[in-house]
Amino acid sequence: MSFRILPLPARKHIALVAHDNMKDDLLDWARAHRDILARHHLYATGNTGRLLHAALGLPIQRMLSGPLGGDQQIGARIAAGEIHVLIFFWDPLEPHPHDPDVKALLRMAQVWNIPTATNRSSADFLISSPYFDAVYPRRVPEYGGSA
Ligand code: PGA
Repeated sequence: MSFRILPLPARKHIALVAHDNMKDDLLDWARAHRDILARHHLYATGNTGRLLHAALGLPIQRMLSGPLGGDQQIGARIAAGEIHVLIFFWDPLEPHPHDPDVKALLRMAQVWNIPTATNRSSADFLISSPYFDAVYPRRVPEYGGSA
């Protein structure tokens, strides 16, 4: 498979999503990193976004709630190149009615090779990377390209 470079900008569009049992953890993480997050453009699924806006006082572009299609809206924006980072605290201990959407969102993040954190440790590593505030030469697959 061939690849091309589709750079991620210095000021990133970051999607934040947390399942209900993980919301407190994501809010606590976001408060701890508010100053860094404030330099970027934030998206979130419906309820996560409402809580984050109340906790941080930052503008957040809100999608539908996850089970109503919000995960798919974020996935579509990743495919369109509009979202550059995914912070997704999914709940490993409970089934969800929208599990197929969760899988689809994680798949889009994988296909488009965007930085993705699915738990607090990886979110800490990600946000402390020098690439978080800099242009990053992200590689994406060229599916139509020659093998
Ligand atoms: P919510 O959706 O932010 O609207 O709760 C999150 C999810 O379950 O994907």
